[in-house]
Amino acid sequence: MTLETLLHAWSASPCAKNFSNAVYRTARCSLLFGVAYAATVLVSGYGIRRDAPTLTHDQVIAAVNVEKHRFGLDDKTIRVTFTGPDTIKASAGLRFDGTYEITLSPDNCILPLVRHEMYHIGAGHCDDAHKRALNSDDHIVPMLRYLFINEPQAILYSSLADKL
Ligand SMILES: [Zn+2]
Repeated sequence: MTLETLLHAWSASPCAKNFSNAVYRTARCSLLFGVAYAATVLVSGYGIRRDAPTLTHDQVIAAVNVEKHRFGLDDKTIRVTFTGPDTIKASAGLRFDGTYEITLSPDNCILPLVRHEMYHIGAGHCDDAHKRALNSDDHIVPMLRYLFINEPQAILYSSLADKL
């Protein structure tokens, strides 16, 4: 048996077909994750102005109320949870009782991040994520959508809110 016939036999076998499909799928996934990872680094590193003054809890709540009005969310309940100093967190989400929650750690109590999280709520990003988490098995498309559509919009709003 020559090398050529051996390779031919291997490439025609079901095992080779599964192997190449697995390699293709893995390569495709790692490419997507590589792009997503690069986007995350860029977005989190350069997107938000970090030199804004730290707000008191009362100032954060006042800023949330201003943004609520801007987004036409006056009838919605948005709770603000302040975490302890040992965490680094800034997030917005929809709770199962239909209210929204913004969670901020002390270093993240700044106006650009309040506006950023409020944009996610105002634009319905939290609602979509909530539905997708319940209805979808596909994690890649929602992740790409978050990184390349939702997150850049929220970053732009946090930077441009004063000019809008
Ligand atoms: Zn965000």
